[in-house]
Amino acid sequence: MTGNLYVVAAPSGAGKTTLVRLLLEREPCVQLSISFTTRAPRPGEQNGREYHFVAVDAFRAMISRDEFLEWAEVHGNFYGTSKKWIGDQLTAGRDVLLEIDWQGAQQVRKLFPEAIGIFVLPPSIDELTRRLVGRGTDAPDVIERRLAAAEAEMRHVGEFDYVIINDQLDQALDDLRAVVRSASLNLGKQRRNHPALFAKLL
Ligand code: ADP
Ligand code: 5GP
Repeated sequence: MTGNLYVVAAPSGAGKTTLVRLLLEREPCVQLSISFTTRAPRPGEQNGREYHFVAVDAFRAMISRDEFLEWAEVHGNFYGTSKKWIGDQLTAGRDVLLEIDWQGAQQVRKLFPEAIGIFVLPPSIDELTRRLVGRGTDAPDVIERRLAAAEAEMRHVGEFDYVIINDQLDQALDDLRAVVRSASLNLGKQRRNHPALFAKLL
C-alpha cells in the first residue's frame, strides 16, 4: 500500500464527524471513505455524501459478493466499507480515512497492520450525553442505546495508536492534524514523494 490509511473511531457523539470534516478542509490530500449503511438518512444527510444509503437486501448482496473491506452491525444497522474504492485510492498513493467503529477497525488492522488507528474520546460521559442530546438528530430511545454502548466502545481505546480527547474543538483538531501531518512525514512516505532527492541519499 502506498497511501496512508487512517482509521478513526469513537463512541457516537464524541465529535468524530465534526473533527473529520474540519480535518478534511485543512488537509485536502486525505480522502474520506463513504461507507454503505442500512440506517435511515438523518435530516440534512445526502445519499453519496455522508453515506451510501442502501436497503438491507442490497447490503446482504454486497456481503455475499465480498464487496466489503470490513462490515459490522452497529446500533442495529449495518455499515460497511467498499473494498474496491479503498484499494484503488491506496494503490494510487492517496491517503484514505475511514470513520468506522471498533469492530471494523479490528478487521482493517488485520488486513493492513500499518493502518494508523486514532480513537476520539469525549472529555466525560456527561459531556457525551449533552452532545448526543444537543445534536438533536436521534430519537430518545436511540440516544439511550448509543449511550449504553459508549462505555463498552471506549474500552477498545487500547487497540488504537493515537488518542484525541475532544474537549475544546480547536485543540482536538490541532491534535488530529498533528497525527496526520507526522504520518505524512514518515521516511518511507517522504522517500516515495521525493524520489530524486532520495536517489542520491539512500
Ligand atoms: P459523532 O460523529 O462522533 O457521533 P458529532 O460530530 O455528530 O459526533 O458531534 C456530536 C455533537 O457534539 C454535535 O452536535 C457537534 O456539533 C458537537 N460537538 C462536537 N465536538 C464538540 C466540542 N469539542 N465541544 C462541544 N460540542 C462538540
Ligand atoms: P452513525 O449512524 O452515527 O453515522 O454511525 C454509527 C457508528 O457506525 C459510528 O461509530 C461510525 O463510525 C460507524 N460506522 C460508520 N461507517 C462504518 C463502516 O463502514 N464500518 C463500520 N464498521 N462502522 C461504521
